[in-house]
Amino acid sequence: MEKKQYKRILLKLSGEALMGDTQFGIDPDTVARMAGEVKAAQDTGLQICLVIGGGNIFRGMAGAAKGMDRAQADYMGMLATVMNALAMQNALEQLGVATRVQSAIQMDAVCEPVIRRRAERHLEKGRVVIFAAGVGAPYFTTDSGAALRAAEMRCDALFKGTSVDGVYNADPKQDPNAVRYDELSFSRVLTDNLKVMDASAVALCRDNDIPIVVFTIREQGNLAKILRGEGVSTTVCNQAE
Ligand code: UDP
Repeated sequence: MEKKQYKRILLKLSGEALMGDTQFGIDPDTVARMAGEVKAAQDTGLQICLVIGGGNIFRGMAGAAKGMDRAQADYMGMLATVMNALAMQNALEQLGVATRVQSAIQMDAVCEPVIRRRAERHLEKGRVVIFAAGVGAPYFTTDSGAALRAAEMRCDALFKGTSVDGVYNADPKQDPNAVRYDELSFSRVLTDNLKVMDASAVALCRDNDIPIVVFTIREQGNLAKILRGEGVSTTVCNQAE
């Protein structure tokens, strides 16, 4: 694979990436390992924005399915992302990586509000900026939050760390004949309804020409490997078919 020159990336991890082998919540050893992945990526000289989901703790849709008001449940989901952001901040700082958390829901006692110019300054100083609480509004997900922050922080690409090593034409966990794509266009993802990120996040990346790189975060050292142009991933971009 050709090596792309990235200066600043946005890394999106789902909340589930912090669970490890448990079924719920935050596993400190797993968070420490994820922090190690982020540090290794930063050590390649990159500026890193980080967005972490909240699905390991609470998802608005799940609450709504059990009869809760959807917006109320979504706010709980957003608060879950702040807990994950604080856990990741702790783990990164234990590795000596300077960080700031900026939340879309203001929470002055624990983190900064989202201020783009301040985030710029943090990145220039070599701090990892963790954006919490998604876009700060219900009926969205942290995928949309990741796309939004990638656009406003002018990231060169959005890296989505998942439990599979790219995008397939069928679910590789169900179908042994599923084929992985190396490259895909945004329009193909949207028309074929391929599960990369939710449609609003994909559309935002398409309109702002931000490639999405889907890779597995489960394999140690993989993010840094992909940043070196090695390893396996799928890139979704406007140039592909
Ligand atoms: N959420 C929201 N608005 C946002 C981001 C998140 O309402 O901008 C809520 C929503 O309920 C979502 C939950 O927070 O289900 C956790 O985020 P997400 O499901 O994206 O987490 P992930 O699947 O990445 O772990």
